[in-house]
Amino acid sequence: MGTHPNGPSIVLGKGKEILLSEWIESNKDVLGEAVKEAFDSKLPFLLKVLSVNKALSIQAHPNKVHAAFLHRERPEIYKDPNHKPEMAIALTPFEGLCGFRPLAEIQSFVKTIPELAAVIGQEAADAVATSSSGLCSDGLKKAFTALMTCSPAVISLQLNKLFKRITEKKSSGDDLSSYCGELLLRLNSQFPGDGGCFCIYFLNHIVLKPGEAMFLGPNLPHAYLAGDCVECMACSDNVVRAGLTPKLKDVDTLCEMLDYSCRSKEENIFPCHQDPNDPFTTIYDPPVPDFAVARIQASESSRAHITLFFQRSGPCITVIVSRAFTMEALFHQAVPCTSSKL
Ligand SMILES: [Zn+2]
Repeated sequence: MGTHPNGPSIVLGKGKEILLSEWIESNKDVLGEAVKEAFDSKLPFLLKVLSVNKALSIQAHPNKVHAAFLHRERPEIYKDPNHKPEMAIALTPFEGLCGFRPLAEIQSFVKTIPELAAVIGQEAADAVATSSSGLCSDGLKKAFTALMTCSPAVISLQLNKLFKRITEKKSSGDDLSSYCGELLLRLNSQFPGDGGCFCIYFLNHIVLKPGEAMFLGPNLPHAYLAGDCVECMACSDNVVRAGLTPKLKDVDTLCEMLDYSCRSKEENIFPCHQDPNDPFTTIYDPPVPDFAVARIQASESSRAHITLFFQRSGPCITVIVSRAFTMEALFHQAVPCTSSKL
């Protein structure tokens, strides 16, 4: 839901339907003074509910300056000049890849999985083996770029070898965890022969519990793998993809722009906090001005906090994820009912 031209929401008015962007255009005050001024009278965010069955591409989003550059250079691919920081909040256990693993884990995979070493080549394998933990690792960049730019024939050969080896281990009841074996088998069945399958050895494999969140700031590599989530992001559709996708891959741009910092799984889980003014509300407040998310856990007897929610100063999109008793209360504040083409 939102006003991005790639999937604009529609307001169900009396008689004819109009775009949410048009409705806002003629009701600018709904944005509140601060948002009106800072975002040129536009709704600055999109809200989605995703139900992920099959892995969604390995990707990252450009920062504002880079997004403007990409849009200027290749407007047919990068359709708007905005950044796209995004927050994914799990509704069910939600599985994804997020950020580079601690360097020691990557080094260990390169050392113990010969198919991975063969794909990135000796020089890159040596570079990553001799890297030391730091905020930006040249060896890591070299190895990841070598993987993403490896020829499809080599990828396919090595992936098949690894797939076979793990399948054999599975049938003899061996522990597959040191190869992330179950995940590799699953991704290879979804995208057979796709080099993105090897990315599991570079990126943290995270399973969020309901209510936990990941914040995908600029240049952070990620992929959603399975589960349901609420996702909120700046109003943009700028995605640089490089694997596990039938869509256009822009490998050079991705490898160049990525944040190669190594962090643990735990460091990639976004810290939310309880709203100090409302015991029913948890706030997910990312370090960007475009949006924040409030999760309200209501009970039948706690209607008062709904009012509190609407005393927030900016525009809100509200999604009710279980039960429906609050709908009337929400619309009481003259918020339009919208439906999305998504
Ligand atoms: Zn994304």
